[in-house]
Amino acid sequence: APGVAEVRVAMMADKAVQKIVAVGSGKGGVGKSTVAANLAVALSRGGRKVGLVDADIYGPSQARLMGTEGQRPVAHDNRLVPVASQWGVPVLSMAHLSQPGQAIAWRGPMASGALTQLLEGHWDEAEILVVDLPPGTGDIQLTMLQKFKPAGAVIVSTPQDLALIDATRAVELFEKGGVPVIGVVENMAGYACPHCGEVSDPFGAGGAEAAARSMGTDFLGRIPLDIAIRRESDAGTPTAAGEGPQARAFADLAGKVMG
Ligand code: ADP
Repeated sequence: APGVAEVRVAMMADKAVQKIVAVGSGKGGVGKSTVAANLAVALSRGGRKVGLVDADIYGPSQARLMGTEGQRPVAHDNRLVPVASQWGVPVLSMAHLSQPGQAIAWRGPMASGALTQLLEGHWDEAEILVVDLPPGTGDIQLTMLQKFKPAGAVIVSTPQDLALIDATRAVELFEKGGVPVIGVVENMAGYACPHCGEVSDPFGAGGAEAAARSMGTDFLGRIPLDIAIRRESDAGTPTAAGEGPQARAFADLAGKVMG
């Protein structure tokens, strides 16, 4: 029988593991980072202690999205201390460790090492760690699955068919790795009129929902293409921190992710 100490270590390991919610996508440019940032802020507004890790090592964008550009994390006991943001969500991103615009050209093992440093930062305070994964199904995703086994994954897709096919691959990657897929979010779903706010569907609606159903995963909702989201993201003021209709859409998403 295992000793008390071993049981406790196992429990601690379990706790660290249980709190990661990975946000993935089959391809880039679908708004995965935007959804990850706003999900983290919405969860925090809902009263959770949340941290945000930018695992998009080669194309980090969370420092800009969260308004923490130019801040540098310090190390304590050889572990990185997350950078505080104005939104109640501390962040760690490669963007905090490299120079702005600096190209990151690492091979897989080094990128996986960087991911480990970000995830093994001082996250003890966080109940939930939202992790923004790089797009696709490569080395980083495998390290994430094998070493940090997230409690669940949220897949972001646009309504376009190609993105959906890629999203199907992302869902399969997590399921094969034993990480439950919490569900699929359809982003850039319909166009929100900047004047009246009405959402229209120039390309049709419902593709991601149907795809989620056919993959046997939940559909977590739609976020429309809204100029306000793009503007607020660029300004480092996440939409979910505001009061508009899209802030409510992100709050709904956070509610569904927590079940
Ligand atoms: P990814 O992480 O999938 O590469 P990003 O989150 O970086 O995608 O988003 C790509 C671009 O699209 C960014 O300029 C972002 O501001 C914009 N964007 C994302 N989602 C929306 C949305 N729902 N409405 C308007 N612009 C969006």
